[in-house]
Amino acid sequence: MKAAFHTGKKEISIREIDMPEPGENEYLVKIKSCAICGSDIWWPNDAVSNEPVHGHESAGEIVKCGKNAKKFKSGDKVVCYAILGCGKCVHCAKGMLTYCKAKKFVEGGFQEYAAFNESLLFPCPENTDWVTASLLSDAIGVPLRGLRRLPVNENDTVSVWGLGPLGLLQIMFLKANGVKKIIGIDTVNERLESARKLGASDTINPKEKDTVAGLMGLTNSLGTDKAYVYIRHPKVTEDVFKSTRDGASICTFTGLDGKYELQEWYERTLVWSFYFMSSEYEENLKFIKEKNIELKSVVSHVYPLEKINEAFKKRFEEQDKSLKIVINMN
Ligand SMILES: [Zn+2]
Ligand SMILES: [Zn+2]
Repeated sequence: MKAAFHTGKKEISIREIDMPEPGENEYLVKIKSCAICGSDIWWPNDAVSNEPVHGHESAGEIVKCGKNAKKFKSGDKVVCYAILGCGKCVHCAKGMLTYCKAKKFVEGGFQEYAAFNESLLFPCPENTDWVTASLLSDAIGVPLRGLRRLPVNENDTVSVWGLGPLGLLQIMFLKANGVKKIIGIDTVNERLESARKLGASDTINPKEKDTVAGLMGLTNSLGTDKAYVYIRHPKVTEDVFKSTRDGASICTFTGLDGKYELQEWYERTLVWSFYFMSSEYEENLKFIKEKNIELKSVVSHVYPLEKINEAFKKRFEEQDKSLKIVINMN
């Protein structure tokens, strides 16, 4: 079978390797699709020895079941989760695997077959195409957890910082929740255009005008009620605090860089939202279905595994021409 290995700076090589055997509690999955994530930042760096096959936003079909793996059967369609908990600690017992101190980050989506532990697989809804299926884990899980960690009201004024695929999905989900004033911020004009198409009422390009002044101008000089922040940069941190009103809430997905003194920012609430809990999966699917969200509106390209180098180049070096990119193994 074919697998994509990171073999050097901006270099991925396709190699023939042996098919994995599923362990007792594992399933062998024929991967059908795997999306490139904004966090796939290994790509421009040197390869390290024994680097695993990357790709953590995958979906596929079960082709073989381990001896004790009873949850699924051959032929079932599944979506992959990326956090494997230790299964023994207090957090794992509550299903909060992202808090587990011994958790492992599981990849392996950029290859034709992979063995996954039972706890890493969710059932994929029937009639879902494979491109959409690859977006049902991370891509919707992150912005929807953001909305749970920091809920919105329809009349809130909301800023979204960083309009990669997740920022754009955040905008779609805010709009689906009835929010009318959604202001998208990014330095790439094509992404601002996408944001307006997908539900932003206004957009600001910090390269063209002062972001804080722009946000003040759009909120009667009050500042926004809420901010969802997908960028980690000291200037962004400063601007986020300056452009939110007293009593506002800020949700960061990456942590905030730079220095800030919370006591200077009257009654701000700062929330950090990381990945998503596996217990949220079904609720996420329900949201997408009920709100009739077309997830593929954030997908700009689909590439076969053989063209994975081209796909990564497009994703990270041509941000004006690309959004979510999915590798298709059909
Ligand atoms: Zn991801
Ligand atoms: Zn644990």
